[in-house]
Amino acid sequence: MKSNSYDVAIIGAGISGLIAGNYLAQSGLRVFMAEQHYAVGGCCSYFKRNGYTFECGAHSLGSCRNPDGYLYKIFNELGIYDVLDIKRADCSDTLISNKYTINFSGNADQMANSLANEFKQYKDQIHSFFKELEGFGAKSFLRYYSRYKNMTFDVFLSKYFDNVEIKEILSIFLGNLGVPSNQISAITALALYREFVLDGGYYVEGGMKKLGDVLKNNFKKNGGVISLKDKTIKINIKNECVSGVETERTGAIESTYVISTAGIKQTFLQLINEDLMPSDFIRKVKNSKSSVSALILYLGLKGRTIKDLGWGRTVWYLPNLNPNEFHRKVLDGQCDESVEAMLMGFPSKYDELLVPHGCESLMCILSAPYKSNDFWDANKAKYKEAIINRISTLIPDIKGRIEVCELATPPTIFKFTLNDAGAIYGLASTRDQIDIDYMPFKTPVKNLFLSSHWTTQGYGQAGVPVVALAGKQVAFAIQKKEKQIKGDLLYKSQ
Ligand SMILES: Cc1cc2nc3c(=O)[nH]c(=O)nc-3n(C[C@H](O)[C@H](O)[C@H](O)COP(=O)(O)OP(=O)(O)OC[C@H]3O[C@@H](n4cnc5c(N)ncnc54)[C@H](O)[C@@H]3O)c2cc1C
Repeated sequence: MKSNSYDVAIIGAGISGLIAGNYLAQSGLRVFMAEQHYAVGGCCSYFKRNGYTFECGAHSLGSCRNPDGYLYKIFNELGIYDVLDIKRADCSDTLISNKYTINFSGNADQMANSLANEFKQYKDQIHSFFKELEGFGAKSFLRYYSRYKNMTFDVFLSKYFDNVEIKEILSIFLGNLGVPSNQISAITALALYREFVLDGGYYVEGGMKKLGDVLKNNFKKNGGVISLKDKTIKINIKNECVSGVETERTGAIESTYVISTAGIKQTFLQLINEDLMPSDFIRKVKNSKSSVSALILYLGLKGRTIKDLGWGRTVWYLPNLNPNEFHRKVLDGQCDESVEAMLMGFPSKYDELLVPHGCESLMCILSAPYKSNDFWDANKAKYKEAIINRISTLIPDIKGRIEVCELATPPTIFKFTLNDAGAIYGLASTRDQIDIDYMPFKTPVKNLFLSSHWTTQGYGQAGVPVVALAGKQVAFAIQKKEKQIKGDLLYKSQ
């Protein structure tokens, strides 16, 4: 075999690429992975400033329930669950508005009780609502799917509530996808509640950096080859079948299969000559809508006061409790100049080793549309100030404690992940883009597969559990094909 010849070449070492690579290498296949950034993890990467370690994007995990959470199963199958040291925060989410502060524990009963405390006359409806959410799962999926796929979450909420505030509160978690309740399918919202809300608030001790590192090391231990700072610039196709990739540093790589975890616009409009693809498929790619991007403020702070505030792992701060209006505006391309909605996480509250002794860290995420570098050069300082002012209304002493202050903009996210339009959740989970055959992992090119938050599983929503599942599914599809050709593999796929 030639030195640059592999069974599988994977474009991108985000979580989806790493999971696919881990399963494939573990089954004895020869796998090469090219990552354009200097670190693995993609949206789950990290950076360091003045002794502080910041998570770039994802900071909280869902779907780790024993025994059937996607991540729980995957990490166990790969033999890394115990190494990862996954913990769950006592309180997963806190909602703060001018009128309410509500702690949600990530348990249906407790969530219902917390909400019913504020809305006593709706107690029965609130409990019925959470009971129906709890009933959604693998066994009931088809029943729920046929009933709710074409219904919006707004209509679903109206089955239970005529109270606008309750409907807005229960739409806050849609901030995980950036789509308002009257545009998102009820089935997407139910999946989000099941995987991120009722089973949310998990984290890796040591931060997301550790998740990427453990996956990278396990991949290498099983013979996988990973090349960092090595952008893929072309997917080669011979006789309508992939034959490998070309990367900036390694050059030409021959492979039987290629998995792209890059955005679909990059994959099909830049890495492949679009003339080689069916025209209706290319039209779909061009017309597809990316999810929102984000502004992310990272603060390193002297002193430690946040840990005593009694908030959850994720704090949703919407002073005017208007998530739906906010998501609609951002999805339509408007920026949130008055900071109407933001999400905050406090990595150091859960792991003091991420900050210098006696200090703490805060990250704050605001959904934002993609705008050019020129726009952000002109406006960055204004947004930084507006966000810090907004945080100050909750943590009054914050301005005097800032040691590190960095603002990532949509072009920053694009630079470090190459996700189309700096999208933070891949394809927008709107009702017309969630069907399983909208963007399946099998592409029109033989042996070219997709795996990432740009593929669809039938119910929308992205995030770490869903992209990990996508990586596992694509690995199993390749293992199945290889078994037919070569007989049994080392790893027994299920
Ligand atoms: C700010 C933010 C907050 C988030 N919060 C959460 C959260 O708390 N919980 C959660 O579950 N999810 C969260 N998410 C979403 C989640 O992180 C992503 O959906 C998921 O990590 C995407 O994984 P992926 O592997 O599909 O893609 P990515 O993470 O985008 O990985 C793709 C990789 O491919 C590389 N790449 C692209 N093109 C090329 C090329 N041509 N050559 C070589 N390499 C290439 C990129 O550099 C990148 O490393 C968040 C995302 C962001 C950005």
